Amino acid sequence: MQSETKICQNCKKDFIIEPEDFNFYEKMKVPAPTWCPECRMVRRLSFRNESMLFRRLDSHTGKEIFSGFSPKSKVITYENNYWYSSDWDQLETGVDYDFSKTFFEQFRLLFSRAPVLARSVYNMVNSDYCQEASECKNAYLCFNADYIENSAYLRKSHRVKDSFDCYEVDENELCYENVLVDKSYQTFFSTDCESCVDVWFSKGLRGCTNCFGCVNLRNKSYYYFNKACTREEYLENIRFLTSGSYKIMLETKKKVANFWLNFPNKFYHGLRVINSTGERIFDSKNVKDSYFVKNAQNMRYCQDVWIKASDCYDYSVWGDGAENIYECMTCGMGVYNLKFCFHCWEEARDLEYCAYCIGSKNCFGCVGLYKKEYCIFNKQYTKEEYFLMVQKIKKQMNEVPYIDKNGRIYRYGEFFSFDISPLSYNESLAQFFFPLDKNTAEEKGYQWRENSTREYDITIDAKDLKDNIDDIEDTILNEAIKCINCNRAYRIISLEFQFYKRMKLPLPRTCHNCRFIERFKLVNPPKLWHRKCMCDKTSHNHQGKCEVEFETPYAPERPEIVYCEKCYQQEVY
Ligand SMILES: [Zn+2]
Ligand SMILES: [Zn+2]
Ligand SMILES: [Zn+2]
Ligand SMILES: [Zn+2]
Repeated sequence: MQSETKICQNCKKDFIIEPEDFNFYEKMKVPAPTWCPECRMVRRLSFRNESMLFRRLDSHTGKEIFSGFSPKSKVITYENNYWYSSDWDQLETGVDYDFSKTFFEQFRLLFSRAPVLARSVYNMVNSDYCQEASECKNAYLCFNADYIENSAYLRKSHRVKDSFDCYEVDENELCYENVLVDKSYQTFFSTDCESCVDVWFSKGLRGCTNCFGCVNLRNKSYYYFNKACTREEYLENIRFLTSGSYKIMLETKKKVANFWLNFPNKFYHGLRVINSTGERIFDSKNVKDSYFVKNAQNMRYCQDVWIKASDCYDYSVWGDGAENIYECMTCGMGVYNLKFCFHCWEEARDLEYCAYCIGSKNCFGCVGLYKKEYCIFNKQYTKEEYFLMVQKIKKQMNEVPYIDKNGRIYRYGEFFSFDISPLSYNESLAQFFFPLDKNTAEEKGYQWRENSTREYDITIDAKDLKDNIDDIEDTILNEAIKCINCNRAYRIISLEFQFYKRMKLPLPRTCHNCRFIERFKLVNPPKLWHRKCMCDKTSHNHQGKCEVEFETPYAPERPEIVYCEKCYQQEVY
């Protein structure tokens, strides 16, 4: 088979389908895609909320509950305990498939009638203010997080204890303001570090202890802005800088950001990979064009898949033993052979076009089923009837396709259209990676919603807070503080306050959302550019400029120095 160039139905740009892609589509029994990889990713991302919690009325009790869905979203939500119980009949919403209507129209209707979980959480203790999270204890405002204890304001984080304000960290304890930091202890304001202890304002460190403002060091101790010093000198140097003053912290942050720019970056973040391309790829083999993938093999166009996964294309979020997955969002935990599904987990197998079907097998076009088998549009069939029906529906989907307002055609093989998402574009993860304004989003056929947030009456302006954490009393816990950036009120929780005191960290002057936006600037986008190594060091074994080319998430206009693997390795100390 030869590679084929196609025009994306959505953005109208060319994209290439390669022979190995066709092999995968054939194996999965799906047609080749009609949208380019990036548009397919954005479409999936618009089905995941990783940042917002809403108050909405529980559809069963009428009580106000927390939910991942806006009260304006047309979904029926049950509190998780009730949803999982046998006190209601999930098949009550079942309907006969109507061959005179399009599949997607009928699915939208079912999705507005069949109850789903109010929050996407699992096994949580005292952690009501979390979404897309599992196995958390005393966690507050954590999203996409699991195995979290006594922590707050974490996103995309796993196995974290007593830590605050981190993004994409794994195994952190007593940490603060880290981005992409793994296996570290008492590490603050740092990025791209692994196995560090007592590290401040550093980048690209491995196995270091007691380092401040350092870059690209390996197994070093007592380094201050990349200079070796004695223990005494080091402690004297940092004493003032780590005294809990907000002003000093801000100045240090600026100084460090400029210092970091003098050092090269490896063209992507990742370790221990074979035959792979992308960003944040670890311990993987044959993973192509993917973003944040750990312990996986034979994957392409995947994002945020960790723990273990193999043989997947266009799969976003989760993993944990996933196999043979195509065009799915938020599915994981022993899942096998899922196509065009979102929020299906716990050993779910052989599902197509399902949403919120947990522990279910052989279902097609179903919503909100728990441990069911051979269902179509939430109606029970026998095994024989099921396979015949599915075949007939797939045929009908091709003959009577759904056409959306923008003229995009959806046959069998297309993920759900944007207008089926229970989220608006601006509530979804798509907005973080590909931010749009209201008009542009609506032009593209995405939903947009302004949600009113509960405003607290401001009792103190962050500008008027005392500079040093030592001078701030615990009455701060009763205040609604005005964020110096967005002017909205934010609060300090007791767990957080104790942490700042203990670690001598200044009290933040911005709300948790503004803090996240600032932190997120350190994160590379899920996009690759073809570039050349920028190295011209005469000490390396290339004549003149290094000629190595690569696919990198650093856009050409970025200020960072970007090197190939070989050149970068010669510049670490
Ligand atoms: Zn496209
Ligand atoms: Zn703010
Ligand atoms: Zn090079
Ligand atoms: Zn070089």
